[in-house]
Amino acid sequence: MREVRHFIGGEAVAGTSGNSGEIFNPNTGEVQATVPLATAEEVNAAVAAAKEALPDWASTNPQRRARVLFNFKGLLEQNMAQLAELLSSEHGKVIADAAGDIQRGIDVVEFACGIPHLQKGEYTEGAGPGIDVYSMRQPLGVGAGITPFNFPAMIPMWMFAVATACGNTFVLKPSEKDPSVPQRLAELFMEAGAPAGVLNVVNGDKTAVDAILDHPDIKAVSFVGSSDIAQYVYSRGTANGKRIQAMGGAKNHGIIMPDANMEQAVQDIVGAAYGSAGERCMALPVAVTVGKATGDEFTERMVEAARALKVGITTDPDAHYGPVVSAAHKERVENYIQMGVDEGADLILDGRGHTLQGYENGFFIGPSLFDNVTPDMRSYNDEIFGPVLQVVRAESLEEAAALPSQHQYGNGTAIFTSNGRAAREFAARVNVGMVGVNVPIPVPMSYHTFGGWKRSAFGDTNQHGPEGVRFWTKVKTITQRWPKGNVGDQAFIIPTMQ
Ligand code: NAD
Repeated sequence: MREVRHFIGGEAVAGTSGNSGEIFNPNTGEVQATVPLATAEEVNAAVAAAKEALPDWASTNPQRRARVLFNFKGLLEQNMAQLAELLSSEHGKVIADAAGDIQRGIDVVEFACGIPHLQKGEYTEGAGPGIDVYSMRQPLGVGAGITPFNFPAMIPMWMFAVATACGNTFVLKPSEKDPSVPQRLAELFMEAGAPAGVLNVVNGDKTAVDAILDHPDIKAVSFVGSSDIAQYVYSRGTANGKRIQAMGGAKNHGIIMPDANMEQAVQDIVGAAYGSAGERCMALPVAVTVGKATGDEFTERMVEAARALKVGITTDPDAHYGPVVSAAHKERVENYIQMGVDEGADLILDGRGHTLQGYENGFFIGPSLFDNVTPDMRSYNDEIFGPVLQVVRAESLEEAAALPSQHQYGNGTAIFTSNGRAAREFAARVNVGMVGVNVPIPVPMSYHTFGGWKRSAFGDTNQHGPEGVRFWTKVKTITQRWPKGNVGDQAFIIPTMQ
């Protein structure tokens, strides 16, 4: 059976802990490979390799670092088909979706190619007699990334592309459910010209995460995953004096106004709710319809659209979505569907018990649709992370907008309307980090920045874009004095007192 390796100091190395996790083929339910789960010592070895590579990399001129990113982008494009196939085979998303995962990562690499421009400091000439003030953005040192299973290419690249372009070296701890693509990314990064040790990958579970959070040589940790773990990572990491950004779970709401283009809204939301089997933190699993007629028309059209979806194996080019990642996750999602029924919501399409001929043990779930979901239900308050859309009925925009604002999660939300004033007001007022106006999945472009609010993010700096550069650098401000005559001839006077 294939065994995934760690990637430390520029080499693929076998795990030594004796502990391993199983990687499934979500189409068949079979175990296709194993992944070593690192000990703290193995994490220490990765950190040591990153620390050794740090001085040279941090002092490499920014343009040369950017050239490595530029070469990396080219290699990713050349290897797109193989990477998408590998990603899809472990995650369960269909090939086109897997290619999208990689493309969104490439977008961030492309952004990182321009980081020298953002890393420039500021300069004030003549802040006092012979005095200039300037600032520089320096790398933090060794950084780490801990990533979830659902975007095994994009999310690692959000982190290491920006961190390394800024001059940091990096230890990545990818999800143990689909670790092969992150490993391949590290190989390609070296092929692109990154020196050994600049990017290391260590596989593992809580033991490895804790070793990262406690390691004195790691200066910053970027985490993406579920909220309870994000909060834990934030608390433990900050208690150890590290800079932490920790993105958590989500439950995004789409508001459908009576004046929305209904056909377009249904088409958009069917993709946003069920695409990638709902395993996206920017999925749209709650539709809030405004007014009875809107609600009736929406559910009627949505049930037809959802029924028309094809659930298939990952390599089926006609499939809209594939299996979920594991049997345990399938069970969790199906339990939430039962919970919704028990709580009194109307299950008008039930995706449980969905099987495919020849793939009876695959982790497939058909699309499910609930109507008349209410905010007091636990199935509404929790993140389900599966192909389940819940319709909540509201009477006014005010009532509808209060739902995402008051929900514990605040990652993304969207409004579907033809009224610009209502959209503008909603975007300005809603208590959520990323907002779409007639855009179902408002993931910001790589040169903007990604991050939610409330329990969707702990810490105050977002991923990629200028915020990403701020996260991965620290500012130093220098006040220098070169007066006419000899330095030291005059007593120093604070410039503002002149
Ligand atoms: P997860 O929280 O189970 O795992 C994330 C990472 O944490 C993995 O690397 C895992 O090994 C590690 N981990 C798991 N249990 C741990 C523990 N007890 N202690 C320390 N580390 C632990 O998340 P997942 O199931 O891989 O991913 C899905 C979740 O990620 C969803 O909640 C989804 O909304 C969220 N997500 C959020 C964003 C965002 O940007 N806000 C993006 C993608 C995914």
